[in-house]
Amino acid sequence: MSKRKNNASFKKSNKEQKQHGKKKNHAAQKHQAKPQGNQGNSPNQGKKAVTAELTCNGFSNDGKGLVDWEGKQLKVPYLLPGETAEIAITKKGKYYNTKLKRVLKPSKDRAKPPCPYYYDCGGCQLQHMNSSAQDQLKQNTVDHLMKPFVKPEPIMTMDHPWDYRNKNHMTFGLTRNRQIIGGLYAQNTHRIIDMDRCIIHDPKADQIVHTIKGMMKSFKMIPYNEDSGQGFLRHVLIKVGKASGEIMVVLVAASPIFKGKNNFVKALTKEHPEISTILLNINDKDTSMVLGDQEKVLYGKGTITDTLCGMKFEISPKSFYQINPAQTEKLYGRAVEMAELTGKETVIDAYCGIGTIGLIASQKAGKVIGVELNKDAVRDAIRNSKRNGVNNARFYQGDAGEFMVQMANHGDKADVVILDPPRNGSDEAFLSSVVKLKPKRVVYVSCNPETQARDMKYLVKNGYTVEEIQPVDMFPQTHHVESVAKLVRK
Ligand code: SAH
Repeated sequence: MSKRKNNASFKKSNKEQKQHGKKKNHAAQKHQAKPQGNQGNSPNQGKKAVTAELTCNGFSNDGKGLVDWEGKQLKVPYLLPGETAEIAITKKGKYYNTKLKRVLKPSKDRAKPPCPYYYDCGGCQLQHMNSSAQDQLKQNTVDHLMKPFVKPEPIMTMDHPWDYRNKNHMTFGLTRNRQIIGGLYAQNTHRIIDMDRCIIHDPKADQIVHTIKGMMKSFKMIPYNEDSGQGFLRHVLIKVGKASGEIMVVLVAASPIFKGKNNFVKALTKEHPEISTILLNINDKDTSMVLGDQEKVLYGKGTITDTLCGMKFEISPKSFYQINPAQTEKLYGRAVEMAELTGKETVIDAYCGIGTIGLIASQKAGKVIGVELNKDAVRDAIRNSKRNGVNNARFYQGDAGEFMVQMANHGDKADVVILDPPRNGSDEAFLSSVVKLKPKRVVYVSCNPETQARDMKYLVKNGYTVEEIQPVDMFPQTHHVESVAKLVRK
């Protein structure tokens, strides 16, 4: 691994980004930084760069330092409150790009990022802060957003905030000398950083990717080239059952024709007998999505299982499963507690994924109704209820908002609504139907406290009170924070 200096090695230029890769947003790489608002992470690209010596006076929610400059507030990646630093500022259209050049007065919270790719990758945003400062930042973020409601509880942190991701994918490419490389994309680009280890990934998963990278040449698996559309292997996606030890390997290829696949499977499973299943996913589209529609099982049963809160769950390549199961158990534990179930309640598990929260709650509820958009996830949820001997849960495929509108129109009853929507939160159809259904309690699980606060404002206006809020650090080293809230009907 290459060595990289601390603090001041913020060297990448935008020119370099352009030379090496297409600049496009990669939605599928969920844990990677997206371009943030007006100040991108990218270094100077305009003509008139100025360098200013500024002192950071706060944090943005996405972990960037805030500085005041010429009457404007700018965000500076990798800068910490209290620090004085040289910052390059470039005007680009209406916006300003900032780049931390040199820290003159470091904060006591500054840490040396353990990952050598940290400043290039962008998947993590907080490795330049020590753990307690990360916790404090996330706590402050949630505290600030939840000010209109109730004071949040202390954040639930992770003892070992590394190696936690149970789902990883790496992308492959060729250098100009036609050497095979594989790793994660550099931030805001499709330039691949050749790496064997991402320290928030499951270590076994990375070892398997490393082995595959080494096998590609002899199996004539040419990396796919996004620009020319030539080549075969696009990505390798690995899912690990942290409790079960089961491992799924998904080879994402541009074509279904995989000569030598049997020998490949034999060689890979010989090297890694811990692999439970291998699939070939065909993605022949010009897309940032990792997985395509077609799938072929090459080895094993095509799914893995994992245990969460004492229940077994089946996971398929496409279905959503929380990526940090240790913290998920804490999160779900709090969510079920907040639901205050006595065994009689009708519980709606909206945005239910593979049914995890609903099935865990079903043990303490009268009945559970789950709704989820992704049909693979719904199929997994139904299988999961059978696998766990649950007979008081039903799962439906559809838009959660539309489903709730129908329930409200039919005059159906629900005592508790648990919702866990994606980052953009819920919608008015859903929330207004909650108000019509009048559940006694609403438990709102969220991976984006900003949209959670927005949606809770609606519920509070329409007859609910927020009683408790619990932040949970599900994604250490990144600026993301999860939050679960309990609302009760007045
Ligand atoms: N509760 C689950 C999944 C949460 S992630 C868990 O903890 O594992 C959010 C889920 O919402 C995803 O499974 C996604 O497919 C689903 N989803 C997204 N938009 C939706 C919509 N409009 N209606 C229903 N489900 C939706």
